[in-house]
Amino acid sequence: MDAGELSSKVFDLGIDMEHPVSLRANDMSYLFKLEKGLGLMQTSFCMQTIQNTLVVDPFGDLYGCFEEAGYPENRVGRVSESGVEFFPLRNTYKTRHIANMDECVKCSVALACGGQCGVRCRAVTGDMFKPNCDGIKNTILQGLKLAYQKRLENGGARTVTNEAATRSAHA
Ligand code: SF4
Repeated sequence: MDAGELSSKVFDLGIDMEHPVSLRANDMSYLFKLEKGLGLMQTSFCMQTIQNTLVVDPFGDLYGCFEEAGYPENRVGRVSESGVEFFPLRNTYKTRHIANMDECVKCSVALACGGQCGVRCRAVTGDMFKPNCDGIKNTILQGLKLAYQKRLENGGARTVTNEAATRSAHA
C-alpha cells in the first residue's frame, strides 16, 4: 500500500492530518487560484541537479547531495589550497531533469514530481535517469483530489496562499 492509498483510507475514516498527500494538496490548491503566472514547474528534483548548493566534507571533497557525502566515488569535485576542481560527474548531474528521463517526460504528473531523488533511483534501478516512482504518482493524484474536495467544501474559496507553490522539493 503506497502513501496515496493509505491516505485515502485515513480520510475515509474522517481523519485529516498532515502527510504527503495533504502537503501535495497544498501545492495543488495553488493551481486552482492561479489566474496568471507560472503553474507547476518542477523540472528536476533537488540540489543534485540545480547545483546551487554543494556539500563540503572535512577533507575538501565536494558532493552534489547530502545523501552522497562520504562516498568518494560520488564526489563532484574537490577543494584544496590550489583551488576548486570539478569532476565530470558534476556535469552528469546537471543533466538529470525530466526532459532527459524517458519515462518521466511522458508522465502526467512530471511537473509536480521532478523525477524523484536521483540517489534513490540509482540505488533501486541502477540508473539515476531511470525513475523509481515508489507510489509518488498516486500520492500526487490523491493530493489533487483532496485539494479539489477542499475547494468544493469551501465553496470554491481560495484557501491556500502562494507560498505553497514555493515549498521545497525536499519538504
Ligand atoms: S511519478 Fe515516476 S515517472 Fe512520473 S515524473 Fe515522477 S518519477 Fe517520473
